[in-house]
Amino acid sequence: MRSVHLHANRYLLPGAIAALAIAIAAGPAGAAEMPPERIYLNARVWTGDPAQPAAEAFAVRGDRFIAVGPAPAIEALAGTATEIVDLEGRRVVPGFNDAHWHLPARKDARLDNAGSVAVIQQRLKDYAATLPAESWVTGRGWMPPDFPGNTAHKRYLDQVFPGRPVVIRDRDGHQALANARTLQLAKITRDTPDPADGIIVRDASGEPTGLLKESAVSLVRDLLPALTTEDTYQLLIGEVTEAASLGLTSLQDATEGGLNDNERAAVTRAIAAGRLPVRYRSAVPFDEQPERRQLRRYVEACEAARGSLHACGFAKLILDGTVDAKTAVMLEPYVGGGNGLAFLSQEQLERAVTAYDRAGLQVEIHAIGDGAIRMALDACEHAARTNGTSGRRHRIEHLEVPASADLPRFRQLGVIASTQAIFATPDAGTLENYAPLVGPERAARAQPFRLFDEAGAVQAFGSDYPVYPMDPLLGIYTAVTRQTRAGTPAGGWYPQNRIGVEAALTHYTRDAAYAEFEEAVKGTISPGKYADFVVLSRDILAIPSAELRETRVLLTVMGGRETWRAASTE
Ligand SMILES: [Zn+2]
Repeated sequence: MRSVHLHANRYLLPGAIAALAIAIAAGPAGAAEMPPERIYLNARVWTGDPAQPAAEAFAVRGDRFIAVGPAPAIEALAGTATEIVDLEGRRVVPGFNDAHWHLPARKDARLDNAGSVAVIQQRLKDYAATLPAESWVTGRGWMPPDFPGNTAHKRYLDQVFPGRPVVIRDRDGHQALANARTLQLAKITRDTPDPADGIIVRDASGEPTGLLKESAVSLVRDLLPALTTEDTYQLLIGEVTEAASLGLTSLQDATEGGLNDNERAAVTRAIAAGRLPVRYRSAVPFDEQPERRQLRRYVEACEAARGSLHACGFAKLILDGTVDAKTAVMLEPYVGGGNGLAFLSQEQLERAVTAYDRAGLQVEIHAIGDGAIRMALDACEHAARTNGTSGRRHRIEHLEVPASADLPRFRQLGVIASTQAIFATPDAGTLENYAPLVGPERAARAQPFRLFDEAGAVQAFGSDYPVYPMDPLLGIYTAVTRQTRAGTPAGGWYPQNRIGVEAALTHYTRDAAYAEFEEAVKGTISPGKYADFVVLSRDILAIPSAELRETRVLLTVMGGRETWRAASTE
């Protein structure tokens, strides 16, 4: 017999989701299993587990799910100290896993979607007010259409910061705008020659306008004061705290070369302090001509550092540029002419990928154009054939415009399609620059999430934060609607490439876990896996897709531990 005592004045979530303590008479003597610490009832669980796709309850002990299923069976597991949580019919999904994320190099003012000079100026002023007086003001995320005539100019920064150094990077990080004070500190004058592979943009009279392109950005970036150990730690805590608030429980940092010493120390310190609310994966260096001994050291270092909250074991390399800058490598030239040039030859790429493959290391290849994507697939195929290996799960990152003929190769070769849902946002940049550059035939197969699914690829979703916002719900909204946040264009941009909410969820959870070899412990709500899950404000599997934009994360749990709780349940 069970006797149940409800203590209704403890709350897991503010508002009406009450945490109720339940007391249950001792079960049969000799029960081998310890009872769960927490049981969640009255949930609408999308487990992501094909063996049991839906459930109404689950039990957590330590950092793991120990049971998932119908309420009576789960309730029966409760012990005297088990906490019962009523989720009031809320939708629950596995914790989100961002398969392509970056720890920013510094804290910048966010200028995304500013839309005007006035907004950029205001955001910079607000941000500068939080900094010590006279320190550098940095920002990122602007786009040319934010400025009159699509032309960024130092005068817009000088108007608000006449004497303080300011530098703001564009969204993709290929150009930066500096104010007069910054140009002065960098000693950039009308007489300064352009650096190799870079441009100091000048007006008709030869005077620098403040706009710096490609390698010219480093003339200014190199002046920025290095972050202290403490700055880096605070930066990391700020970023991962934001990630937890968005339902993320795993981040895969795609930064080439991996963490620097300060960043690695910050991750270690955060773990020791119990302040890392995500499982964090980072890269080992990519060497174009690696020595076997060096690769063995990377593997050993990763094995030694491996824990439930930090892992490494892959190398990231960049093979081409971007469509917007016409540096992505296409099989056919851009509309109007021109093409990108791969940063490695096919032979260099194959040699490097084969060496990492032989050492047991995964490779992540940034390849955006159909030409670069084919080079990357060929290199993965070459490595497997040369080494006789399989299951290395090499990844291609972004793969924005794949050739139709290459789609089946992802499944055949076991190569992961690491895509970014938010890249399909049909904003002004996409419609006015990107789409015209590739032309309609290729635009129709740009960011083709559905085609990857139909080809049977494992498709891992990420954000490429801080290039784009890291919000997975915004990513799901974009993959499902292919519209901007404002709901344009009607019907979506190339709507044949839309996917359903369940597919998008799978890419952000199970597929992302597979892409980092963690599918045995992550990615679904299944007994034995880490208790990483999210409670949502709306049932994203039942609402109209436009309402995905208004859905928020109410609760994030990582390893059985609450890492985020919304202030209200609205
Ligand atoms: Zn990236």
